[in-house]
Parts: sequence; C-alpha cells; structure tokens
Amino acid sequence: MQTSEQTAFHKQSNAQKQQSANQVLKRVFGFDSFRASQSAIINNVLKAENTLAIMPTGGGKSLCYQIPAVLFDGLSVVISPLISLMQDQVRQLDELNVPSCFLNSTLSPNEYQENIARITSGKIKLLFLAPETALQVSILNMLDQCKVACIAIDEAHCISEWGHEFRPEYRQLNVLIERLDDAVCLALTATATPRVREDIKRQLNIADDSEFISSFDRPNLYIEVSEKDSPYRQTTAFIDKHPNQSGIIYCQSRAGVNELTQKLTADGYSALAYHAGLNHQKRSEYQDKFVRDDVNIIVATIAFGMGINKPDVRYVLHYDLPKNIESYYQQIGRAGRDGIDANCLLLFGYGDIGKNRFFIDQMHNEQEKRLATMHLNQMLALAETEDCRRIGLLQYFGEQDVQGKCHKCDNCLSEAQQQTDLSVPAQKFLSCTYRTGQIFGAGHIVDVLRGSSAEKILQNQHNLLSTYGIGKEYTKKQWMALSRQLIQKGFLRQDEQFGSLKFTPSTQDILRGHKPFLGRLQEAKAESAPRANSATLLGEIGLLELLRSERKRLADNAKVPPYAIFSDRSLQEMAFYFPHSVESFLKIHGVGQSKAQKYADIFLGIIEQYCESKGLTEQGNENAATLIKNAATSNKDLSAKTQDIVNAFEAGQSVAELATQHKVKLNTVYGHLYKYVQHGKAFSNSERLLTEINLDNAQLQLALDAFREHGHERLKPVFDVLGERVNYDQLHLLRVYFLHSTITT
Ligand code: ADP
Ligand code: ZN
Repeated sequence: MQTSEQTAFHKQSNAQKQQSANQVLKRVFGFDSFRASQSAIINNVLKAENTLAIMPTGGGKSLCYQIPAVLFDGLSVVISPLISLMQDQVRQLDELNVPSCFLNSTLSPNEYQENIARITSGKIKLLFLAPETALQVSILNMLDQCKVACIAIDEAHCISEWGHEFRPEYRQLNVLIERLDDAVCLALTATATPRVREDIKRQLNIADDSEFISSFDRPNLYIEVSEKDSPYRQTTAFIDKHPNQSGIIYCQSRAGVNELTQKLTADGYSALAYHAGLNHQKRSEYQDKFVRDDVNIIVATIAFGMGINKPDVRYVLHYDLPKNIESYYQQIGRAGRDGIDANCLLLFGYGDIGKNRFFIDQMHNEQEKRLATMHLNQMLALAETEDCRRIGLLQYFGEQDVQGKCHKCDNCLSEAQQQTDLSVPAQKFLSCTYRTGQIFGAGHIVDVLRGSSAEKILQNQHNLLSTYGIGKEYTKKQWMALSRQLIQKGFLRQDEQFGSLKFTPSTQDILRGHKPFLGRLQEAKAESAPRANSATLLGEIGLLELLRSERKRLADNAKVPPYAIFSDRSLQEMAFYFPHSVESFLKIHGVGQSKAQKYADIFLGIIEQYCESKGLTEQGNENAATLIKNAATSNKDLSAKTQDIVNAFEAGQSVAELATQHKVKLNTVYGHLYKYVQHGKAFSNSERLLTEINLDNAQLQLALDAFREHGHERLKPVFDVLGERVNYDQLHLLRVYFLHSTITT
C-alpha cells in the first residue's frame, strides 16, 4: 500500500511531514483535528526523536504511534503487555484498512506462520508483541531482516522499578532497542510519577525536550459523590438515566458483586458479574459480551478493566469506597474514552470507611498500614470536599495551574445552593453529643434527638436526657448530613476506631454561639442541583436506534465489537446531520475512506429512507455543527441554537410554534429550555414559563413540591405523584421552572 503520503516520506521537510500526518488523520481515521499533545508527539516521532508521551487513559495514545506507523516506510513494532488489547487494536485497524497483526500463543501454528510471512514480506505496518515475545531469539532474528522504523512501548511505566507495576521483561527491552538502533523509540504511559519518568527517559535515551505531558483532566467526565443512603435505589436511578448504554459498577468484594448482580438481573437489568473468582474462560466471555454490547452493565471488583478498551462506556458507578485516589481515577477513567460526556458517581457511605479501616488494621507491616491510612484519608478528603472535585483530583496528580472551577462536578454545579445558618440545629446536635458522653456515633445521637424508642436508647436511659426528642423537625437523613458537615468543618471529630463523635477545641465556638454555623441541610445536591445531563443525545432518536441496530448486526457478522464499526459519536452525527451523499458521509466524525467504502451504502440507505418517511432533509448548517460539537465535547458553552430558542420563547413564541419553525419535535424544544437552566442560566422573563404551563397556583405548588421531593432528572415519579392533574408537556416546562427557581433564589 504505497500512498502519496508515504512516497519518499523521509525526504520531506518537517512541515510537510506534519501536513501528511494531518491528512492521515482525516483520510484513515476520519478525525478532523488532533487532541492536545497528539500532534506535538507525532511530529517529534516523525523527526525520528525518541519520545516519551504521558497521557491519561482515553487521551488518545494509540494514534501517536498509529499515524507514524502509517507514514513510515518500514514496520512499527508495538510492545503491549495485554493480549486482549492487541486483539482489539488489530480488529480496529483492520476496519481502517491499516495492515497489522500480532504474534502470540492464541494463534494456531498456521496463522502464526502466515503472519510471519506477511511481516517479512513487508506487508504489515504495525506488529503487536508482548515484551517476552519480542525478546525471543526467533523474533529478534526475524526483526533483523525487517526494516523496523519505530518501536512503541505501551505501558512504559512497567520499565521502572519505581513504578507500581514493574515488569522485569520490560527492563530487558534494551536488548531489542540496541539491536534495532535505526528505529525511533516512543514510550507511552498514563501513570508516571516524576521519578518513573526520569527512569524511562534514562533507559530509553529520551531527551528532556522530547517528553510530552498532557493534563490528566478528562473534561468530558462529570464527577459526582452522593451520600450512600439507599444504595440499591440510588444505583437503579442512576442506571435508568442511561438506558441501553454501557456502564461499569465497582464493588469492593466478590460477595457484593454477586449480590448486586442478582438483584439487578432480577429487576430486569442486563448485567453480569465479574471478579477474580471466576475462571479465565468465564471472565473473557463476559468481557466479550460487554464489549460487543450483548450486555449493558458489568458489576465488578477491581479485577475488571485492565484489558478493556471500550470507548463508549457511558458511566462508572462506585458502589463502595475505593481504597485510594489512583484506583478511583483509573476506574472512572474507563468511562467516556471517546470524548463524549460520561457520568461518574461515587456512593459514599460512612460505614464503608469503617470497613476500609478494618482491612487496614489487619495489615501486619506498619509502613504499609501508614501508607494505606494516608491513601484512604486522601480519598475521604476528595469525597467530602465542598470544593471542585476535579481540581482536587488534578492537584493530587501534581497539576498546579488549574482553573478555579470546572462546572462539571456536583460541587461546582450546586454552588447556587446557598449555605444557611444552621447554628440552632448544630447546637442541639453538639449538646446531645455531650450528654451522651462523646462515646456514640452519629446514628445514635440522631436517634436520641428524634426521640426514637430503639432498644439501645432505652438501655442507656437516653430517653431521660433533656435533648431527647428535641430534633423532630429534621429527618434522620438531614441530621446525618449536618453531623458530617460538623466533622468536615472541624467542630467534631470521629474516632478512627469506633466511629464515636468527640469534641474538638473549636466545638465550644458553636455551642456558645460565638460563631454561626453555616451549612447546607438535606443532601440538596441530589435533589435540586442542576447536573450535567450528559446522556442527552441530540438528533433523531428513532434514526439513532436504527443505525445502532445495523451497527450491531454488522459487528456480529464480522465478529468485532460495534465500536470498531462506528463510534457512538459517529452515529449521533449521522442522526443529526442526515448525510445523503458519500461526500457528506465522509464529513462525519470517525468516517475515513475505508469506512466510507465499506459502509456508506448501507448507512446512507437507512438515513435516506428514514428522512423520506419523516419529511426530513440533510442538515448542513453551522448552527448544527456547533450544537453537536457542544453536546459531544463540552457543556461549558451553550449552543447558538439553544440561545435562539430561549430568546424566541421569551419573546412570546409558543413551544409548538418553535417546534414547527425549527422542524423538531416538541421534546427537542423542551430539551433546549431545560439545557439552558441546567447550565445555570436564568430567564429574563420566567413569567413566560408560567403562562405556557397554565396551572393554578395550588397545582403549581404541588408540582414544585413533587420536584423538590423526587428530583428533576426523571419526570415519571413526579407524574405519578400528581396523578392526572398535569400532562407531560406541562411537566417538561414545570421542570424547567423548578430548576430555574433553584438557581434564582
Ligand atoms: P488511550 O490509549 O490513551 O487510553 P485511545 O488511543 O484508546 O486512548 O483513544 C481513546 C479514544 O479516543 C479512541 O476511541 C480514539 O479513536 C479516540 N481518539 C483519539 N484521538 C482522537 C482525535 N484526535 N479525534 C477524535 N477521536 C480521537
Ligand atoms: Zn468542579
């Protein structure tokens, strides 16, 4: 395959090389632009400089060696530790018509020999090898005969003894590198402390100015932590926001995994359990089902994820508290690799802290214990902070110059929630803590405050205390939230071993009223905070479903995962732009020449037929481009379309008129209005909403109460509460009005 880009490539100037890289990006991969440091890394490799690339998971490391490999004259060898990842890459490269293969024990002797023949005859561009395979004498001899242009070392941190995943066979890769000394070397990793980086650079002979570190930020991940009060209900509510989408739920123990999976499947969810207790065959079968979209949810221990490259995981839920920030970051990092928004929710239960501490106590080595405790405390700080979580995360990974706010975590989005003066309840709580002797946990103290007649209370005669029953005005949940805020702000401390609450030097300030206690009651975040509704797909849902099922059919026939055919983003764009010609099809994200050749006919056929039946035409305008871009990559800015619709609505146009005018469904118009307030934007004329809703005051209040109670994410619970009194059209607008009132008051 000699292409124009490849002709006498080594003779080109650097600028020409860069241009060639841009062409390959579009022609082969169908992408319009490089991400952050991709192009700098690729250019450096193309200049034949040894290079170190540090990029978060999902950052797009593969492209950094795939593009040079396509451009270089000879063979590129990619060292990768995991067989499943090699297979995955080869399948995807096949789809892109880039000749690649691997050599490992999963191949039959025949296949193995065939691959050798393809490699030695110069037909292969990328060869994937595990480090131990690369060091075999027969392989080294074979490589001597090939023109090896590049050696890419994935998971390069394994080279360093200072890393947490040191592998001795990585150390010996020196042999390979010295032997192929004409080849440029590219080391890639997602995790590397400064010490590990130095080590990699020294061993692979990489200059300081050839080191490229990308930010660890993953702007498309929405990060949220919720108090774990009814975990199963919280889990299903979260899953329900992602119907038919792929997600991972992490639990701490195998028993936990099994139990949750059973419940979910009994309730009709498509879920499989995954942990190290399953045999190898089962594990790879389940992994495969997940990758091929035959099952939506994997409930797993930390054993799951290493060999998974699925780009369209739309959510990660932590059912239990992770042990440290590294694992948490690595696990949420498995969501949204394709750059489209994904949601990460951590259910944070105080009981889990006790469990983790218990495990730590079982450790014998003092040093290990201290380290584990420190890691746990860092994780707790992240879970309990009221500041931006993303910034907390990035600072943990050593990034200093991060902006003040991310607008994409629960804390940033709930800022509108004012703190109120909670001095009186705080005093009640503290005085009850004192009267019960500072030897009880929050649960018991709350029971006393709320006048419970639980046995433990009567046994301790706490029903005789003056603080017994003086706190019935708040629910247990509210009191618990208050107790945590007291701890977090240092007015109480929790005994590490027993969980009992004790006074601190600052307690008296509150108790005697020297200082007001400001806080938030009710886990207001879960109820009314505007949150990123990242699962919103713009475009025709009906068409999207058709395209999805065609993708699944093709994938099953070809025995590849659906994402190897087209990414979610590609399908979304098709369902939005309705391309009618191969030319416009090629403009879709992720559609390069090979994909267009293979699939344009089939997909264009579906799109045309759908459009004909609905009277739709191809969309090509710039507004549409901004809209889809915003939906897919960032929600910091509102699209022009949303703004237009809101302006027209405020000026007096009805939802029905707007729908006709923009040739969209009523729901799409509601969607724009909702999105507007979700971004924290206020209407200049919210009366318009009320006129359009057209309800009397009593009904209006009833509806707002229902939203307060059930949250605004789903309309069904609110609809159920209100019975037949309001219809869904009104509900959509009520939701907007409700959210609007929380951001303006
Ligand atoms: P990593 O190896 O760093 O975890 P990958 O190389 O698997 O990440 O890339 C993650 C996803 O991002 C893949 O689906 C890939 O196709 C996509 N991707 C990479 N670079 C780009 C780009 N420049 N434009 C659009 N998508 C990209
Ligand atoms: Zn934030």
